[in-house]
Formats: sequence, structure tokens, C-alpha cells
Amino acid sequence: MKKPFVAGNWKMNTDSHTSIELAESIASGSLEFAGRRVHVAVIPPFVYIPAVVKALGTSSIAVGAQDIYTEPQGAFTGEISASMLKDIGCNYALCGHSERRHVIGETDELINKKVSASVSGGLLPILCVGELLEERQAGRTNEVITRQINSDLAGLSAEKVSAVTLAYEPVWAIGTGQTATPQQAQEVHALIRKLLGEMYDNQLAEEIRILYGGSAKPDNAADLMHQPDINGLLVGGASLNAHDFIAIIKSLSE
Ligand code: PEP
Repeated sequence: MKKPFVAGNWKMNTDSHTSIELAESIASGSLEFAGRRVHVAVIPPFVYIPAVVKALGTSSIAVGAQDIYTEPQGAFTGEISASMLKDIGCNYALCGHSERRHVIGETDELINKKVSASVSGGLLPILCVGELLEERQAGRTNEVITRQINSDLAGLSAEKVSAVTLAYEPVWAIGTGQTATPQQAQEVHALIRKLLGEMYDNQLAEEIRILYGGSAKPDNAADLMHQPDINGLLVGGASLNAHDFIAIIKSLSE
């Protein structure tokens, strides 16, 4: 049994005070569960990462970054590398979040390089994939997920891929309050595991963690987690409220 994993993506929210308050509240409220029964990570904006790492103190909550750049260093104004993030206490990096794909315009080719650079730089990537509403309505979900998995992991060795956590995040469910049903999520998670089995092997496919993300909340977390191929949750909006995020952590520990 894989330990459930819950990660909170704070997106472009909080400030220098509220990021610390939120981290401290999550750490103290989840002491009983975090680390022991559930693996927990928070993913603050870049600029607050050092303060959040400090605020989390000796708690077992890990910290992630919302993005990384493909190169380790050099003349790339405005970008931040995996080794820099590792240096300030990050363990995880989101790659290919839907807002980066669809608002910023990141391509599968770029995301593939980011996944690879994360692992090379000592970070554990959380690779997000997911279809748009019109793609689901046109019956193209499996085709889109297959293309994303194949392209985003292209050229990565089995060893590199074993460091990756996948997140299925249907774009129509992110920040909309419209969660995928547990069955809809399970179908895509099973497809992702099948694709990983074809690209690598069944053991790797079985061991890899696949999270669901898209309007996960305290009242739907347990139902989603009961699905056989869902190993945890990537939480956006509800992770900004310590009470809700702790309730989600708790429901994953049961
Ligand atoms: C996300 O940002 O990854 C996410 C799942 O957001 P929300 O939970 O708000 O839908």
C-alpha cells in the first residue's frame, strides 16, 4: 500500500504574513497524521518558499515549487532552476500545471524538459495532465491524456520516471467547484497506469503515485480516495484554508 499523498498548490496567493500563518496552522493541525499516515506537501509562491520552509520547522511537511526552468543556471532572466529550489529546501516541483499549459502557453515539449530537469536537479516532479471540457465532450479524453503522458515523459529512463508523481487534473474541474466523479477520475487514472506499464513495466506502473486534482474538498476527498488507482490529491483552493486542508489530510489518513 502506497502512503496517500496530499499536496496543496497555493498558486499566486498569500503574502509574507499569511504564507507563514498558513504553514504554521497546517503544521500544527496535522501533527498526528502528516508524515506518519499521509505524506503532505505545500506548494507556495516562489518568493515565500524560504519563509514557509522555516515556518514548517521540524514538521514532516515537504515543500514544492509551482514551476521550474529547464536549465541548471545561466542567462535565463526571470527563471529559477531545480538546483536553486533544492538549495532553499524544496523537494517537489509542479510541471505542466493546467494554468501553465493553458494560460501561459507551455507545450508538451517544454514540460518534458522541465520534468527531466527536475529529476536531474534533485527534485521530485509532480507532472500534471488533463483534458479541456471540449475535449471531454468530444470523447477525446483518452487521446489527450495518452498524448500528454507519451510526450511529457518522452526519453525519460525508468529510473527517472520512478521519481515522478503524476496528477490527473481535468481542466474543467480546476477551480470550478465541479469535481470529476470518482468513476470519471478512476477511469483516467487506470488509463495512465496502463500507459506507464506499456512505456516502462507493470511494476513501475504499479508503484508510481497518481494524484487526482480538481475541486477536491473535505467532503469529496474520501470518495475519490476509495478508487483503486487514486493515491492522493492535489488541492488548489481548499489548501488555502488550513481547516479544510487539515480535514482533507485527516480523511486521507483513515
Ligand atoms: C490545482 O490548482 O491544481 C487545483 C486542483 O485547484 P482546485 O483544487 O482549486 O480545483
